[in-house]
Amino acid sequence: MQTQLQYVSTPLIELRSPLLSTSKLKLLVKREDLNHPSVSGNKWWKLKYNLEVAQQLGHHTLLTFGGAYSNHIFATAAAGRELGLKTIGIIRGEETLPLNHTLAFAESCGMKLHYVSREAYRKKTEKDFLAKLNDQYGDFYLIPEGGTNELAIKGCAEFANQLSKEVDFDYLCLPIGTGGTMAGMIKGIDPSKKIIGFSSLKGGGFLKEEIEKITSVEKTNWSINIDYHFGGYGKTTRELMTFIEDMKMNYQLPLDQVYTVKMMMGIFDLTRQGYFKLGSTVLILHTGGLQGTRFMK
Ligand SMILES: *Cc1c(COP(=O)(O)O)cnc(C)c1O
Repeated sequence: MQTQLQYVSTPLIELRSPLLSTSKLKLLVKREDLNHPSVSGNKWWKLKYNLEVAQQLGHHTLLTFGGAYSNHIFATAAAGRELGLKTIGIIRGEETLPLNHTLAFAESCGMKLHYVSREAYRKKTEKDFLAKLNDQYGDFYLIPEGGTNELAIKGCAEFANQLSKEVDFDYLCLPIGTGGTMAGMIKGIDPSKKIIGFSSLKGGGFLKEEIEKITSVEKTNWSINIDYHFGGYGKTTRELMTFIEDMKMNYQLPLDQVYTVKMMMGIFDLTRQGYFKLGSTVLILHTGGLQGTRFMK
């Protein structure tokens, strides 16, 4: 039986424009969104070791949590189908029909969708809540919301390490949700390079402390930019939508509206402000997410 997810190696592309040549910057995009048709981008790396360990421990079911538009739910459902594991998705909020694209896809992969109120969802890590799920569904391997745990960070660190060998750069930029991917980048990348995370959440101030806790080592080569959330998680603006169209037209680069577009707006803005050192290479990580937002209104 297949025990590992398929992986397609991904291209590195260069963005060229008058703005970039006048600021003497090289902007490269690692198109990690293309690594798998449905377990894409950072979700592939976050799931890698979780899937391995779940199978080693003899589990046949994965259980995880997310909102109705969660890329992690989408990816977990697809991973379960590919590896022959059952999947259960604990979804925040009430069922709304027809199902949106993310949930319809998850269900088509065989994921059992279990809806809980927002109030109950907040208690999802408590013993009683999990014990009830155990009674109902039997044994399962638990993956936390957003897929962030130690094994997820291990996978991201492995990717970071690989990336450092593939290309030389001065800065690495990536979008942040829970901060798990960022923590992996910090662990896996040489401290001479700067890592900049762009928070897609409003009030992402708590992230710094969270990431410090996870990475534990005394690394100072990273920062989190919290100025480009555009109203908060999942919120969008006309400006963002126009930017997505422009990036598609000018650079043939598709961006999602929850994460990658906000980071990219931030990078272009910082470039105009002269934030990056002249002559440096900025590597941008495309973390995926295109499947969910294409259908999101
Ligand atoms: C989930 C996701 C993120 C956030 O990753 P974290 O590890 O939670 O910070 C970023 N970009 C995309 C496209 C995602 O789907």
